[in-house]
Amino acid sequence: MSSHLPTYEIYAVKYAGPLVSSVAMAFWNTDWDQEIERNYYIWVVKGKDETLIVDCGMAPALAGEAQISGYVNPLEVLARIGVNGSKVKRVVATHLHFDHISGIELFREATFYIQETEFDFWVKDPLAKKPPFLKLTDPVGNNYLAALEGTERLILVRGDQEILPGIELLLAPGHTSGLQAVAVNTAKGTAILGSDCGHLFRNYEEEMPSCFITDLPAWMRSYDKLKSKVSSLSLLFPGHDAKMATQFPSVAEGITRLV
Ligand SMILES: [Zn+2]
Repeated sequence: MSSHLPTYEIYAVKYAGPLVSSVAMAFWNTDWDQEIERNYYIWVVKGKDETLIVDCGMAPALAGEAQISGYVNPLEVLARIGVNGSKVKRVVATHLHFDHISGIELFREATFYIQETEFDFWVKDPLAKKPPFLKLTDPVGNNYLAALEGTERLILVRGDQEILPGIELLLAPGHTSGLQAVAVNTAKGTAILGSDCGHLFRNYEEEMPSCFITDLPAWMRSYDKLKSKVSSLSLLFPGHDAKMATQFPSVAEGITRLV
């Protein structure tokens, strides 16, 4: 992206964690006997005139039911940096797994940007009701989302699209059929919130998927695409790496500034 565009700051907002799992979950078929800690996040992209939220986090009811460790309502965490989530105007949902979309009803005034292929799969395709997909979704959140179809609060995106000067959505399938990353013009160049195209920084570095695979060849092409667009690999941010909460400057409890 070029220098005449506005620049934005990016914040990682940890709303749950640490969660412990086998390394093999985040790093496909590797180190089954070793454990890893990961967190759940949403992100704030803050410009001079616009504040954009990336992902919705988890709904309080679902988090309670699933006993998600360290869960805090994402709106409470956002409030610590003065962002009123219930008034936010724009939310990008990277994909429709429960940890990224079930909190949708928290953002009462937002317009949601979702890839059309992602929406169609989870909301309309009977395949999404098969066990491996069902396990990753939340019917309550999806019903809320389905009810927004045809209203001005839902924008179904087809492929790559600039939604604000300096902010471009990038279709990056593999983990899901219509996962989208968010490319952001920053003072350091183009940063990309890649979400679960890589659970960890290591996934991007070594071009390995997590164990949640929809289309493996597409995933590998998505790595090529995101790496070709980001200004440096250190600006390509994963979905769940605990390092986002520990290795960047803290600005409030649970919130770090990535760029
Ligand atoms: Zn995730």
